[in-house]
Amino acid sequence: MHAENALRMTPGRRAILDVLGEKRWHPTAQEVLKELRKGLPGIGLATVYRNLELFAEQGLVRVVRGGRDKRRYDIVTCGHYHVRCVQCGRVEDVDVPEQGWLEDEAARASSFEITNHELMFLGICDDCARMRTTKKERV
Ligand SMILES: [Zn+2]
Ligand SMILES: [Zn+2]
Repeated sequence: MHAENALRMTPGRRAILDVLGEKRWHPTAQEVLKELRKGLPGIGLATVYRNLELFAEQGLVRVVRGGRDKRRYDIVTCGHYHVRCVQCGRVEDVDVPEQGWLEDEAARASSFEITNHELMFLGICDDCARMRTTKKERV
């Protein structure tokens, strides 16, 4: 299956993957576009979005829900957990060991054969927390 579906790596696609791999982040299509425009001024949002979704289909990137229905993209596809800011939607990795027992519990509690699990912690990021404190100080 993999060989048939293998994507042709055009320079544009390579550039999108490079942006995702630049740092440990989970950008939206918009944020990827902003980075890409520095080197590829002609590229448009529709192209970026289409390719990101294609990568996701192929298992090259993982889609992370970023709140307010925003899709964020992660180059690290193997199991890890995330934390999302409920104020700005920023998503980061959380270095907590994978809890395999959750899958056993879920298998026992449902009729499904569990193959994987995702976990999203919710909270307030340091930027938003700082903004709240400065606002409070001003009042
Ligand atoms: Zn935030
Ligand atoms: Zn991640």
